[in-house]
Amino acid sequence: MTGRSGITVKKYVNFSEWYTQVISKAGLADYSPVKGSIVVRPYGYEIWNIIKNVLDTKLKETGHQDGFMPILIPESFLSKEKNHFEGFTPEVFWVTKAGTTELSERLALRPTSETIVYALFSKWIESYRDLPMKINFWNSALRAEIKNTKPFIRNSEFLWQEGHTAHVSEKDAEAEVSLILDIYQGIIEDYLAISAIAGSKSEREKFVGAVYTFTLESLMPDGKALQVATSHNLGQNFSKPFEIRYLNENNELSYVWQTSWGVSWRLIGAIVMMHGDDKGLLLPPQIAPVQTVIVPIFRDDHAEVVKSRAHEIGDELRKAGIRVLVDDREEYTSGWKFNEWELKGIPLRINLGPRDIKEAQVELVRRDNMQKLKTSRLSVVDFVSRILAEIQENLLSRTKEFLKQNITMVDSFEAFKSIIGNGGFISAPWCGDQSCEEQVKQETGADLRVIPFQEGDGIGTKFEACFCCERKAAKVAIFARAY
Ligand SMILES: [Zn+2]
Repeated sequence: MTGRSGITVKKYVNFSEWYTQVISKAGLADYSPVKGSIVVRPYGYEIWNIIKNVLDTKLKETGHQDGFMPILIPESFLSKEKNHFEGFTPEVFWVTKAGTTELSERLALRPTSETIVYALFSKWIESYRDLPMKINFWNSALRAEIKNTKPFIRNSEFLWQEGHTAHVSEKDAEAEVSLILDIYQGIIEDYLAISAIAGSKSEREKFVGAVYTFTLESLMPDGKALQVATSHNLGQNFSKPFEIRYLNENNELSYVWQTSWGVSWRLIGAIVMMHGDDKGLLLPPQIAPVQTVIVPIFRDDHAEVVKSRAHEIGDELRKAGIRVLVDDREEYTSGWKFNEWELKGIPLRINLGPRDIKEAQVELVRRDNMQKLKTSRLSVVDFVSRILAEIQENLLSRTKEFLKQNITMVDSFEAFKSIIGNGGFISAPWCGDQSCEEQVKQETGADLRVIPFQEGDGIGTKFEACFCCERKAAKVAIFARAY
C-alpha cells in the first residue's frame, strides 16, 4: 500500500482497514519482509522519541537510571522462574546456531529481560546500601506473534521500555508499583490525551511470575479494549530463585522485593485509533513532532513577501517553544499541502496569503474540529499557544466522554451476553473466582480487563451477587473483548 492519496475508507465503516491506511499513508510505518514485524519510518519514530523523552525525564526525576541489556538470554536463565518460563515459552524465538556450530544451550531472543537482569542484580546487590536499585532499559523485545498482527499493536518485535527495581521492603516495592502506574497515567492522559481506567489485573491475567499486576486499560473506538501500560509487583518470586539477597543493618541476609513495568510503542497505535478520523491522523499537540504548520499561499508576484513573512512568524513561534514547520515548497499547490498536513495530523495550520499580510492578520485552521479562526499578526504567538492547549484539552475530554458513554453495568450473564457483541466495557459484580472468568472467556471471547481502583462515576455499583455464578460478589470487574 503506497501512494500519497488520502484515506479511502471511513473510520467507522471499516476500522481495521482505516487504521492500516492511516499508519501507512501518514508515513508512520510500513511492513517488513518478515511477517509480523514492521519498519518504523521517521515520522512515526519522531512521535516515539517525544513520548520516550517525556517518560524518560519523569523516570530520571524519580531516581531511575538507564542501562543496556543484550538481546540473547540463555535458556537456563529464562527457565529459572517456572511460571514465567511456561508463560513465555510459546512466544519465544530461539537461536540454536552460532554460524555453523550448534549451540550447546539455546539462546532466547529477549521476550522480556527479568531473568537476565535479576541474574545480574544478584551480583550487584550485596547490602542495604545498594538499595533501592532502579534501572530502566529502552530496548526492543521479541514475541513470536504470527496471528492477528497489527502495526504498533501486536508485532513480533516491538520497542518498549522495561523498568526493573529491587527494594529492601515489600512496602517500598508496592510504593514503586503505584508510583510508576501514576507516572504512566499522567503521560497517557496529559500528553497522549487518552483516558484509561487504572486498576489491577485478575490472577488469571496478571504478568506471569508477578504477585500482582496493575494496569491501565483504555477503550478503542471500535469497542475493543487496549492495555496501554502495566506495572508489576514481583514480591520475592524472582529474588528467591535468582538469589538476590542483601545484608540488612543487623548483618542478616534477606531477599529483596522487586518490581518490573513497561510501556511500548503500542501507545502510538492507541493515539492513531483514538484520535484519527476520516481525513487521517490527528495528533495531540503535546506529542506532535510538528504542532503548527505554516502554509504561505502565494502567486509569483507575491512569493517572496509572503514566504518571508511566513518564516518570520515561524521564528517567533519557534522561540516560544512551539514545534513549527514552514511549508514553502513550490512544487506543490496549497490545496495539496492542506491535505497532506491534515493526513499527517498536524494539530494547527496557519494559512498566510497576501491579503492576510495587508490586513495584519493570520488565518488558522484547527485539525480537531476544522474550525477556521483569525487573529491579529501581533498576537499570533499567544493565540497559537492558547489554541494548541485547547486542542489538547478537547481531545482528552472527547476520549473521557467516549469512555464514560461506553461502560455498561450489568448484573446478569444474560444481560452480559446480549450486549457484549456491541463492544465496549462491561462492568459487573464478580465473585473473584477464576472459573467465572473462564466461563465468560469461553462463551463470549471477553476477558477480565481490569478490577478498577475506583468504583462509582459510571464504573460500577455494588451488587450482592456475582453476575455469572450468583454467589456473593467480591468486587466490580470490567470485561471486554480486547486487542
Ligand atoms: Zn462468580
